[in-house]
Amino acid sequence: MEKELKDIRAYHLKVIEEKLIELITHKNRILAVQSEEIGEFKKSFNEFKPLTQVIQKTTRECLQEFQSKLDEADRQAIQQFHQQQDQLEYHANRLNQQQNQMQLIQELFEQQTKQRLQITEMQKVKERMLNELQQTKEELEQKKFLKQQLMNNFKLSQQQQIQLQQELKDTEHQKRYWNNLLQEAKGNIRVYCRIRPNSQEDMLLLNGECTLVLRVPERFLKSTNCQKESSFNFEHIFNQEADQQEIYNELSDLVQNVVDGHNVCIFAYGQTGSGKTYTMQGDDYNKGVIPRAVEQIFQERQGMLELGWQTTIRVGFQEIYNEQSRDLITNQKCDDVKLLDVKDIVEVAEHFNTAKKNRQVAETLSNEVSSRSHFIFQLNLQGHLGDKQINSTLNLIDLAGSERANVAKTEGDRFTETKAINKSLSALGDVFNALYTKQQHVPFRNSKLTFSLYKYMEGSSKTLMMVNISSRSEDFQQTLASLRFAEKVKSCQMKK
Ligand code: ADP
Ligand code: MG
Repeated sequence: MEKELKDIRAYHLKVIEEKLIELITHKNRILAVQSEEIGEFKKSFNEFKPLTQVIQKTTRECLQEFQSKLDEADRQAIQQFHQQQDQLEYHANRLNQQQNQMQLIQELFEQQTKQRLQITEMQKVKERMLNELQQTKEELEQKKFLKQQLMNNFKLSQQQQIQLQQELKDTEHQKRYWNNLLQEAKGNIRVYCRIRPNSQEDMLLLNGECTLVLRVPERFLKSTNCQKESSFNFEHIFNQEADQQEIYNELSDLVQNVVDGHNVCIFAYGQTGSGKTYTMQGDDYNKGVIPRAVEQIFQERQGMLELGWQTTIRVGFQEIYNEQSRDLITNQKCDDVKLLDVKDIVEVAEHFNTAKKNRQVAETLSNEVSSRSHFIFQLNLQGHLGDKQINSTLNLIDLAGSERANVAKTEGDRFTETKAINKSLSALGDVFNALYTKQQHVPFRNSKLTFSLYKYMEGSSKTLMMVNISSRSEDFQQTLASLRFAEKVKSCQMKK
């Protein structure tokens, strides 16, 4: 066995050796082939080397070119990107704008819808208005027709007016002539009497328009030496019911004399409380002589202006107290009051208010000055038309209270005042007497009152004495004194 094993092993070793020799031979053969191939490869490699270099260079250049193209493309892409971004922004803005526009359009659309509704509404109104217009047109046509008729009438009345104006001019001078004749007939001095309203009136009886009967009350019978009844006659007696208009109606012709170129004096005489100031000034609802006369003269002046007269009206306000004269506008003592130009009745009223205020101030300083002083309102009218001229003054005088207090019983200031009043009122009576009995000497200088008025009482001047009396039996003595004074003035007229 061992031998067999040895043989097998030797066999195998021999096979392996043969195989190994075979392998080595094969390997050498392969190595020879390989080195041959490597030689060949090296040879061809060397042949290709310059070509590889060219390829390498070309490749590098291509790479560079490619890189720069890539850069260029990059740059262009960035640029395009920016451009597109700009465009995008632009489109976004456009989009915003369009959105805003859309909103606006929507709002407009809404407005339009509203407007359409309004238009429909307005169309209805328009239709209504058209109807009204049609009506108005018709009314207008009617009115045009009426206007034409009126125009025709107006033309007619214009012609009549021209004719009337001519007639007016003719009658103006006739009116002056007749008015003056009437005044002459009535006398240059007139005496009227006004009874102040009172519930107790048994003392005075009116008999017609011109006669007054005074019954002496029992308790005075013994103390007076007059008969039980005395009657007095005057041009006119106004009873208690007579109102301001009635009084003025009876004296407006005198005021007319001023416009005709004559001086006029109207005196209110009577005891305190008998209605002198009421008669002259009145109140807001019952205008007295002064405001009515001012109105009349301004109205007459308007007529004069229409006829071509050039005129000036001036007014003055004076107070005489204790024989001293005071201008109530300047509130200064004076001999002659300053007359102020006035263009209308409003201006006169304004000055009148100033005068009243100044008088009231004096009144509060010394009790009841107004009843113990004379108040004179003057209105001067000047005018000319061609060779015609007028310069006349209206004097309206509210006299101090005529009550004759017993001078002996008074003292101090009251004594001086009473004396001054007595003096001026009796001087007034004396002046009337001398004037109307045509005496040579007229004692104007005897009192401040008569001296202030002398220019306006002489010549063709007209005078009215309005005696105010009370019907109360307790005022009997004052009423009797006033009536006697009035009678004395009237008797001057009789003696003429
Ligand atoms: P005098 O000025 O004479 O002192 P007044 O005019 O001041 O008197 O009158 C005294 C009062 O009597 C005033 O309150 C006045 O309003 C009133 N009076 C005078 N007369 C009348 C009249 N005829 N109608 C109504 N009231 C009058
Ligand atoms: Mg008075």
